[in-house]
Amino acid sequence: MGELKQHFRLFYRPFLAPMSVIIAIIAVENSIGLSIPWLLGRLVDWMHARGDMRDAMMLATSIAFLWMVLNYLGNFRWRFNLIRLVQPLRLHVMRVTMERLTKLSLAQHLDKHSGVKQSVIAEGQDAVRSLMDAMVFQISPLVIECVAVICLLAWANGMMAGVVIAGASIFVFWARALNRTIAEPLRELKEEGHRESKFRNDVMRNMELVLLTAQEPRAVNETQSSYARIQQQHRNIWIPYSLDATSRDNTPPLTRLGVYLAGIWLVWNDAASVGSVLTWWIWTADVLNRVGNIGWIWRDIMEYIASARVFGDLLNTEPQITSPPDAVRPERFAGRIAFRDVWLTYSGHERESADDGTAHPVSRNASLRGVDLAIEPGQRVAFVGPSGAGKSSIVYTLMRGQDPERGTVTVDGHDLRRLDIRQWRSRVGIVPQTVHLFDKSLRYNICWATGKDPYEVPDADLDRVIAMACLTERVSSLPYGYDTIIGERGVKLSGGERQRVGIARALISDPDVLVFDEATSSLDAENEHLIHDAIRTASRGRTTILIAHRLSTVADADRIFVVDEGRVVHAGPHAELLSVSPLYRSLVQRQNKVF
Ligand code: ADP
Repeated sequence: MGELKQHFRLFYRPFLAPMSVIIAIIAVENSIGLSIPWLLGRLVDWMHARGDMRDAMMLATSIAFLWMVLNYLGNFRWRFNLIRLVQPLRLHVMRVTMERLTKLSLAQHLDKHSGVKQSVIAEGQDAVRSLMDAMVFQISPLVIECVAVICLLAWANGMMAGVVIAGASIFVFWARALNRTIAEPLRELKEEGHRESKFRNDVMRNMELVLLTAQEPRAVNETQSSYARIQQQHRNIWIPYSLDATSRDNTPPLTRLGVYLAGIWLVWNDAASVGSVLTWWIWTADVLNRVGNIGWIWRDIMEYIASARVFGDLLNTEPQITSPPDAVRPERFAGRIAFRDVWLTYSGHERESADDGTAHPVSRNASLRGVDLAIEPGQRVAFVGPSGAGKSSIVYTLMRGQDPERGTVTVDGHDLRRLDIRQWRSRVGIVPQTVHLFDKSLRYNICWATGKDPYEVPDADLDRVIAMACLTERVSSLPYGYDTIIGERGVKLSGGERQRVGIARALISDPDVLVFDEATSSLDAENEHLIHDAIRTASRGRTTILIAHRLSTVADADRIFVVDEGRVVHAGPHAELLSVSPLYRSLVQRQNKVF
């Protein structure tokens, strides 16, 4: 419950004032709404007694006037709600979603499938808004009206008040007991639903694979069957609930019967006038109607709460990587990098289970097992080694994707954990194996890491990095040059072109350290040669790290680190390694055979 309060604070705290204004307007509307049956009761008593006609006209006019006031108040409330609550709440939730998600570490993002996140966010944002609607427009008016009617009845007639209090108390206790039984299974159902949407999302993203391997029926059947499992769980929860809820929803009509009987008894014994009893009946009928309706929407409210909880859990996840408040924030970095006995294990391995759909942790294997290395400012170094040896994991640790469980990484003598991580990352130009691209213009994609409006970056700067990345010809052949939209994940470019856009992006902010993680892997031999010349030029005067699968391209590096099974096993220039490192020698020989 505490964590639910924490989630609600995150979503609703800035809106307590407009929510209170709306609830106050609703309270005024309710008071007017309650005074109308009272006037109606007086009109009935007037008919019974055939009093002065002017009194009747006065009563009828008052009722009509109050209806009109209600109409205007309702309109004002609707506009106020839209401008001060609904729209700002939506903006606020979107903002906190992005702020919180961007605070999570790379490891935390890698742990959670993007399909699951999208599903949690879409459902959560919807639930937060619907829940606010339910709180402001369903629950608060009900509570206000209940309290007002009970107070009025207690003042007018204790017996009537007693019947309503008894009925409302039974309903509330019953509803609370039912909610308790359903809250946890519902939350589990939501989480299961998000896991299921992960698979659907995967299928969508891999549609090209589905079509090219002619596996359309498989995609349809597997998405169907996992969804059918969720539906079964849904039924298992809601069918028993609906039986109990139907019994609970008998409370309002039975209370109403009590109110009728009490009224009949009072009139029979001349303890109240017909008009007064009519007023009390209308009041209680109104309240009990609302209670009955809450019974109906309660199921939705429980679903919203479950979705908001899962969403809140995601947003309130403690970030694993943060910079300390007194973090070191150098303007520029010389680029002296050292790893001392660094051990890293990726968090969150999962195993697929065919039986119950749950994931079990498997034994954890360290990807880095005591890495020691030193890179001097301005050096051009390369990591080589068999696939899976840990080369990319070294870069991942250097970018503080995750903190090592043992050992230290230092940059210019500062422990990485003491550095302002955003400042460090912004001074590194990295070209990953898979270049991440937005479905926007080439200009936008290249200028992304500058943090500036793409049109503020002079074309001359773009021309320079585009030339360095050997893309000049390609850009001039694009229909709108830099302003051509390159498609989702850059599908309108070839693999090699995507990688060259990545290189241009890394170069444009004039970084202090350059990292190329297999940056030339999808280039043909000619382009690879050109890019290597470009990398050589770009790396002048700054520390450059290359992860290379083709050793011929890094033979002239100042220092080559041979990585094997999570450790640096040898380090030195090419010629020295050929004589001292059997692994390096065999890697070189194997490649020479291939070529
Ligand atoms: P290399 O770059 O030398 O090919 P990597 O550093 O990518 O090797 O991988 C080293 C080991 O870490 C491999 O066993 C790989 O399976 C594992 N690994 C890499 N990335 C992840 C990840 N995100 N989660 C779990 N294990 C990973």
